[in-house]
Amino acid sequence: MSKLEKSVDTSLSFDNLYRNLHKGFGQIKDHRRSNSRYSLQDILSAGFAMFSLKSPSLLNFSLRSQQEDKNIMDVYQINKLCSDTQMREVLDKVEADKVRSLFSKVIEQVKKSDFFTSYHYFKQMVVVSIDGVEHFSSRKVHCKHCLKKEHKTGEVTYSHAMLAAVMVHADKREVVPLAAEPILQQDGCEKNDCERNAAKRLVKHLKESYPKLKALLVEDALYANGPHIEQILGANYHYLIGVKPDSHKALFKQVTSRRQSNQHCFVENKITHQFYWESNLPLSSSQSHIRVNFLRYQQKDIQGNLLKEFTWITDIELRKNNVLLLAKAARSRWKIENETFNTLKNQGYHFEHNYGHGQDQLSTVLAYLMLLAFTIDQIQQGACQTFRAIHASLKTKAKMWESLRAVFKLLPCFSMQQAWQHVAFMYQIQLE
Ligand SMILES: [Zn+2]
Repeated sequence: MSKLEKSVDTSLSFDNLYRNLHKGFGQIKDHRRSNSRYSLQDILSAGFAMFSLKSPSLLNFSLRSQQEDKNIMDVYQINKLCSDTQMREVLDKVEADKVRSLFSKVIEQVKKSDFFTSYHYFKQMVVVSIDGVEHFSSRKVHCKHCLKKEHKTGEVTYSHAMLAAVMVHADKREVVPLAAEPILQQDGCEKNDCERNAAKRLVKHLKESYPKLKALLVEDALYANGPHIEQILGANYHYLIGVKPDSHKALFKQVTSRRQSNQHCFVENKITHQFYWESNLPLSSSQSHIRVNFLRYQQKDIQGNLLKEFTWITDIELRKNNVLLLAKAARSRWKIENETFNTLKNQGYHFEHNYGHGQDQLSTVLAYLMLLAFTIDQIQQGACQTFRAIHASLKTKAKMWESLRAVFKLLPCFSMQQAWQHVAFMYQIQLE
């Protein structure tokens, strides 16, 4: 057996993960007549391929060499490749919820792996960060689902946003999207109402998709409200949510009136880390039946000047031996912004690029396909030796995607594994 063949990855290889996803594409009901020229499975697979290869636009994706066409069809198991116009037309009418349900299909395959269990953070719980991201914005193009923002000048900005539930770990770079939910205009007049209503659907969907998952949800202060907390506890999840003095006045007043006896403090690299906590406080005067535990974390320099301060509420009983762990989990919430969405924006996914807006579902379906491609990439980055070796040598993802596309244009690839082996050969990267 040659050195290259030995490097073939096991269950978490791209080809294995994609096989299952492709099967899922085939199970989505086609809304068109039965004699359509291109199957819905082919069209969804081609949409996914566009994001998997980080094609800069739909138009760019349609300008392909003969070899590229053949490779795309082989690697992504497509029988016939449709035009970009056909792709837009068909995907605009697909039931977006059905595409969304495919996240759990991918995760299902990963759940028993060491990769997944390495995300167990606290009492076998995984930390799930929930946050919103805008994936489309325009002053001209819009559809009935667009969120609207009116400017003083009378101009309107139209946008689409998504609320994502992403598995994070304080000590890991890779993040794994578990579910996502569009934030819709129909949900309310205020942006915050829309986001809260999307969160309601997201938590419900998360529970339905992963009934046995033990999760600690970390969220920002927008979600520190009674109905949301009750929903989280009802789903048997735990929470760690940011609170601010101006939005939770009564809670902070209660905190100030306590004796402040629960404290823990240590110094590391000349920085003092100070924790202070209180148990069983009413969330607010109107929601006094909801009791929360309160945690304050401060960083101070050697002179005692305050550098950073964070405050959270949680249902987890706070103790000297868990406050640091929980503060780290809560702060890994920032990873969703730093890792997930900046990656999508900067590392070749062209998340904000307009691939076409459509009249109905297109924007949401494309966002799901892209997030699915990102999910599989993150699993590769965390668990696939070939991907990791190439990433380590080429340093940037942009370079990796560029090399992958070059290989697709010129060399026959029957699988993604083979495509990466070509890349490794091109740069003389030794695969284990
Ligand atoms: Zn729209």
